[in-house]
Amino acid sequence: MSQGTLFIVSAPSGAGKTSLVRELIESLDGIRVSVSHTTRPRRAGEVDGVNYHFVDKAAFEAMVERGEFFEYARVFDNYYGTSRRAVQALLAAGQDVILEIDWQGARQVRAQLSDAVSIFILPPSREELERRLAGRGTDEHAVIARRMREAVQEMSHHDEYDYLVINDDFTTALRELQSLVIARRLTVKRVSERHGPLLAALLSGEAGLE
Ligand code: 5GP
Repeated sequence: MSQGTLFIVSAPSGAGKTSLVRELIESLDGIRVSVSHTTRPRRAGEVDGVNYHFVDKAAFEAMVERGEFFEYARVFDNYYGTSRRAVQALLAAGQDVILEIDWQGARQVRAQLSDAVSIFILPPSREELERRLAGRGTDEHAVIARRMREAVQEMSHHDEYDYLVINDDFTTALRELQSLVIARRLTVKRVSERHGPLLAALLSGEAGLE
C-alpha cells in the first residue's frame, strides 16, 4: 500500500481557504481534511467532530503532555493542534491528507516530514481582503483593524511555502489546487508504489521482442 501525501494549506482569514479546501476534497477521491483539536469556542453552525474537536484548555494540555499532537500552536487567543494518530492512520491507508493549519504548525510539520507539500492561499488584493474581513459591515473599526493585522502577520510567512495560490477567481484557484494534488500523485515515486506489478511486467524481458 502506498503512503498518501500530506498537504499543508495555510492562509490568512478572509482568503477563502475553507471553501476552497471543502470543494477540493469533494472534487477528488482519496483526499481528506484532518479535523483539528481546538480550545476556541464553537461558532454558530460548527459541529463538534466535523469542523473541529472542541476541547477545553485542560484537555488540550493533557494531549500536549502525552505527545499526542503532530503539531500544535497558539493562534491568537486559542490553541489548535493536529492529532498524530489520526493523520498517520489516514496516510498509512494511502489517503492524501490536508492540514488546514497556520504558519507555526506548518513549520513543525515540515521539520518532521520533509516530503509534505505546503500551499499558501492569498487574497487577490488588499482592498478585497479588507472587504472580506469587514464581513457584513456590523463590526467595529478596531475589530476589523485587528483582523487585518493578524492577516498581514500570517501572510508575511508566505515565502516559507512550496506553492502560492491567489484566490481571485474561485474556479481558477480550485483548479490550481487540484493540479497540485494530481501532480503529486504522478511523481515517479508515487506511481511506482501504486503500479509496481505493471512496471515489473512492462520491464520484464520474457515476452518482449529483442
Ligand atoms: P479559526 O479559528 O478561524 O477556525 O482558525 C484560526 C487559525 O487557526 C487559522 O489560521 C487556521 O489555519 C489555524 N488552525 C486551525 N487548525 C489548526 C491546527 O490544528 N494547527 C495549527 N497550527 N493551526 C490551526
